[in-house]
Amino acid sequence: MNEKPKVLIVDDRIRNIIVLEEMLADLDIELVRASSGKEAVEKTKSTEFGLVLMDVRMPGMDGFETVEMIRADPLNELLPVIYITAFYNEDYYRVKGIKTGAVDFITKPIIPDILIGKVSVLMKLYQQRKNLEEEILWREQIEKDLKKAKDLAEEATRAKQKFLSTMSHEIRTPLNAIINTVNLLREEDPREDQMDSMEILKFSADSLLQIVNDILDFSKIDNGKIEFETVAFEMRKLLNVVSQSFDYEVSRRDLDMTVRIDESIPPVVVGDSARLTQILINLTGNAVKFTEKGSVAIEVKPFKRHNSRIDIEFRIIDTGIGIPKDKIKMIFESFTQASSSTTRKYGGTGLGLAITQKLVELQGGKLKVKSQVNKGSTFSFTLPFLLSDKTRVEDDALQKASFHSLNGLQVLVVEDNLVNQKIVSKYLTKWEAAFDIAENGRIAVEMVKKKRYNVVLMDLHMPEMSGYGAAQKIRAMKEDHFKNLPIIALTASVFLEDREKIFKFGMTGFITKPFDPKELFWTIAPFLKK
Ligand code: ADP
Repeated sequence: MNEKPKVLIVDDRIRNIIVLEEMLADLDIELVRASSGKEAVEKTKSTEFGLVLMDVRMPGMDGFETVEMIRADPLNELLPVIYITAFYNEDYYRVKGIKTGAVDFITKPIIPDILIGKVSVLMKLYQQRKNLEEEILWREQIEKDLKKAKDLAEEATRAKQKFLSTMSHEIRTPLNAIINTVNLLREEDPREDQMDSMEILKFSADSLLQIVNDILDFSKIDNGKIEFETVAFEMRKLLNVVSQSFDYEVSRRDLDMTVRIDESIPPVVVGDSARLTQILINLTGNAVKFTEKGSVAIEVKPFKRHNSRIDIEFRIIDTGIGIPKDKIKMIFESFTQASSSTTRKYGGTGLGLAITQKLVELQGGKLKVKSQVNKGSTFSFTLPFLLSDKTRVEDDALQKASFHSLNGLQVLVVEDNLVNQKIVSKYLTKWEAAFDIAENGRIAVEMVKKKRYNVVLMDLHMPEMSGYGAAQKIRAMKEDHFKNLPIIALTASVFLEDREKIFKFGMTGFITKPFDPKELFWTIAPFLKK
């Protein structure tokens, strides 16, 4: 604030005003005159003053009345006033003065030092208040700006997430068709040269699906929309599965792959085996990818034992290209790789480590890395697991069993997409199940009335009537058969809300697309009545 603070001098006699002005001439303030109460009230309406020096006795409106009028304006409610009066000792004036909120009295004849002293103290206070007010305004502005920036950032994050999940879903649907078609073709005795092309097609489609899943996974984790499971599993078996999944890659290179698991690790522990597999596959996958020759080892040791819990340390050690010191921090960020030539040479999206780190941290661990260029890298982390007295876990029926004939099973496939219809039909034919196809929910509702199906496979998004609508209609039908008829949703969504919705509409379960033939088989097989 560069303007000088203003002081209003009110007196009906110009001579008195001039005397005051001379006394205050050395102060850094601007003096404004008013020769009547009325003029004073008007001036305070249009100008901001820091102080009023008010003569008490004036013709017309006296000083007290004038102050009452001035203070009636909410903006001037607290405007300080010094009354200049010869009658200071008269009680009447004192009481009236204080009632109107007087700050001070100066009696005539005025002693210059007292006037100057009082005015400068009040002006200093005024100045301080102004500074504070300005600071508050400034802070309010900053707060507003901050909130705006935060809103914008949140909006951008929401838009990013929405974009990522919509895009991934849109890509998953046609990918689903590609992968399933390749799976079918491979089972139709192709020529050897065709088989090779199909392997390439399958490999590419699988990697594309992996990327899309990574993106979805990442946006889910970023959103905090992730829950960890607690299932009992055999640690040694899990590690074998992880290492076996790199057999092909390892055999193509001059690589040694070992799993070293400490003897004191219990056979069965309880935790999220699927997420652990994902973490280990990401880290081991990188180790294999970035190691041309030498070895990749997975080491598993107990870190700390508690009463009912064990913290286990995992180390993935490779003798590969290593990571330069200045790049170590960077590689954990999403979509970043140690060198821009990495994508060209090794592929990948740079999401693996960002996801892995989050998955480890969300379970209470920390992902660490030690690396030396051209010598190799070691990634390590510790995760807690609950102890179990079991020594083995029954194999998942899904993995173990082989297909058998579904002869006698009556299936209704409700699906509007032609490619998906074909894929499901081919599998059902192969498994010798009988089936009909309904192109939308409305037709499905009609068809279940006419024939006793054992199970309905229900796509969710269809024209005319959605899968949700159809399921609801079927459940509302009178006979018990319709209340118990198994309805399995076919969904491309991996979101928890969507899955909850499936059950809310009375469906029995769901299969995610692109579906795994094994999963489809084992979901519908139990409905074959023997
Ligand atoms: P991606 O492997 O898809 O590129 P990641 O997030 O898994 O993405 O890894 C990010 C980067 O970290 C890799 O591109 C690579 O530069 C570096 N990196 C990760 N693991 C290793 C490793 N074991 N050896 C050397 N470099 C690695």
